[in-house]
Amino acid sequence: RKHKMAEETIFSKIIRKEIPADIIYQDDLVTAFRDIAPQAKTHILIIPNKLIPTVNDVTAEDEAVLGRLFITAAKIAKLEGIAEDGYRLIVNCNKHGGQEVFHIHMHLLGGEKLGPLNA
Ligand code: 5GP
Repeated sequence: RKHKMAEETIFSKIIRKEIPADIIYQDDLVTAFRDIAPQAKTHILIIPNKLIPTVNDVTAEDEAVLGRLFITAAKIAKLEGIAEDGYRLIVNCNKHGGQEVFHIHMHLLGGEKLGPLNA
């Protein structure tokens, strides 16, 4: 399925607090919350408040918000106490990447030693 017109996903409702989520950080550009089906001891999603469906839809206008995703990942890793041991950041795109929610999200995975990247 192509996403020429950006359609809202469940993540927009989470940002607006219209449906419940374990939000651990929110500011003017990004929101972070715990993944509902964690794939590691720590599994947090960091998303732009603005709807950008996939990495393919990123433009130069999005520089600030994309930078904020990384800054927030680092902040949360420290808050969660996993920064020094380390963690993994993943952004899936479209079918081959396994993207299921078409609102860009950075997965922050950690709290334990992770397996091979493509397992
Ligand atoms: P993707 O496969 O698109 O990269 O990842 C989507 C992620 O969103 C999955 O890890 C999935 O568990 C998570 N997810 C999907 N729906 C919800 C939801 O309603 N609430 C939360 N907290 N996570 C969700």
